[in-house]
Amino acid sequence: MDNETTDFIRQRIETDLAENALTQGVITRFPPEPNGFLHIGHAKSICLNFGVAQEYGGETFLRFDDTNPVKESNEFVESIQRDVAWLGFQWKAITHASDYFEQIYQFAEALIRDGKAYICSLNPEQIRTTRGTLTEPGENSPYRDRTVEENLDLFQRMRAGEFPDGSHVARLKIDMASPNLNMRDPVIYRIRHATHQRTGDAWCIYPMYDFTHGICDAIEHISHSLCTLEFADHRPLYDWVLDNIAINYHPPQIEFSRLGLEYTVMSKRLLHRLVDEQLVSGWDDPRMPTLAGLRRRGVPASAIREFCQRIGVTKQDNVIEMNLLDFCIRQDLEASAPRGMVVLNPLKVVLSNYEGSETLDGPWHAQNDTLGRRELPFSAEIFIEQDDYAVEPPAKWKRLSPGQMVRLRYAYIIRCDEVIEDEQGRVVQLNCTYFADSKSGQDTSGLKPKGVVHWVDAHAGVPVRVMDYGRLFKVPNPSSQTFLDDIDTESLTALEAVAEPAMMNHEAQRFQFERQGYFCKDVASADGPPVFNKTVSLREGF
Ligand code: ATP
Ligand code: MG
Repeated sequence: MDNETTDFIRQRIETDLAENALTQGVITRFPPEPNGFLHIGHAKSICLNFGVAQEYGGETFLRFDDTNPVKESNEFVESIQRDVAWLGFQWKAITHASDYFEQIYQFAEALIRDGKAYICSLNPEQIRTTRGTLTEPGENSPYRDRTVEENLDLFQRMRAGEFPDGSHVARLKIDMASPNLNMRDPVIYRIRHATHQRTGDAWCIYPMYDFTHGICDAIEHISHSLCTLEFADHRPLYDWVLDNIAINYHPPQIEFSRLGLEYTVMSKRLLHRLVDEQLVSGWDDPRMPTLAGLRRRGVPASAIREFCQRIGVTKQDNVIEMNLLDFCIRQDLEASAPRGMVVLNPLKVVLSNYEGSETLDGPWHAQNDTLGRRELPFSAEIFIEQDDYAVEPPAKWKRLSPGQMVRLRYAYIIRCDEVIEDEQGRVVQLNCTYFADSKSGQDTSGLKPKGVVHWVDAHAGVPVRVMDYGRLFKVPNPSSQTFLDDIDTESLTALEAVAEPAMMNHEAQRFQFERQGYFCKDVASADGPPVFNKTVSLREGF
């Protein structure tokens, strides 16, 4: 896929620009509700909103849709800012729906004065049951014909805090028989005596999303209000509000499909449950689809941007394969991550004819000289992977087995002479011969082993803990009802591994562990060994 790909949204923007329809240029917004951490679905929206503004010389607001004081918190506000910045985008300004609460309130009062809104005193349950269904019209509220004076008085007293939660709401007077349920006298204000994370106790009535969103878009002069497909049915209401208030700008709402990703859930409600019920270690658990989790797993922001570009923007809902994200991560790290040797499941090898010790050397990346070289301590005792030895090797085996040879990466060729087992018959040590004239780069031995394995010096090697994270769910499409049953309780394996010492002082966070995959240094715990999280395996297939 190339950079020239234009989707229907970019085509629309280009048309608008060509027709000089945008008096203030391209202005977009990313409008999260601060009620959870951002996930990779949000990244699609962020890359789209910030991306088009960047491409067409425009600007993007980061706007917090903070109309629901009960579920929102400053922790989420901060995490959202951190994650958008980490993804690589700069906002023109941070705004909040709550910045406009007074204006939104005034628009509602004006609608009441115009006879286009009223105070309804049905309880929430009655409002629901009189709303009708997809096949049947709703019923008019008995409060629909209150006088303007009575409505204004009640609305002002709602604001003043005279009534308890749920006793009254403000509703638009549109059409209870509309085929679109969103148009059946939608609620625009409710009473909620709750402390708001920004406005404190200044308000006890809060505007609803559908009323608020278009007004904020108009105030900020958003040129294209991009949202996900489930809002298509709300567009008539978005337009109705802007057509019926005294505001001289009316942004177009344009919908695109949500991102769905296999083997995970994306709804914040479900992610909350994973965190609250401690099924993961937190919002930034490396198995979470949150940006904080992906970052902690070692996924570079550039790989997420590439992923979002590849999936593109359409109106078709679809679920993307996890393999595509993994592919983008590997592609990103392949050339840039230094490659170190880490033995995940150590098996001791003793080189019977080697004496003393020496320092070998090898490049950090065989194809990328710019990453430099490192020293590799070597002695008569090293570790190799248990998997790199087989007593009875299968056909085409290229690693160690009794009597067979293998090359140690950037070191010598060795031959397995003797196998030492414990009482249970487990292999605990290999005794090998090394060939002094087979040193990498100066090999005159004429020996031709079939394979090369990684290793770490047993004395200089550093104990590290490696967290091998698998997918959190066992099935590609966990359902929102039964997703807790679909969790793979074995999706985390902690390994006590041994790493080559030069990795410890390297400033890089992300490494390829040779022949294993990509791994990322985790936030160091005060005591205990350094921790590395597995980002992705080297090849497809879990
Ligand atoms: P949830 O339903 O999980 O709570 P949301 O859509 O309510 O998510 P918001 O914080 O309101 O979350 O979302 C902010 C923006 O991100 C919205 O414009 C929304 O359309 C967009 N967005 C959320 N999830 C996705 C997704 N999976 N794919 C694309 N865009 C998304
Ligand atoms: Mg929402």
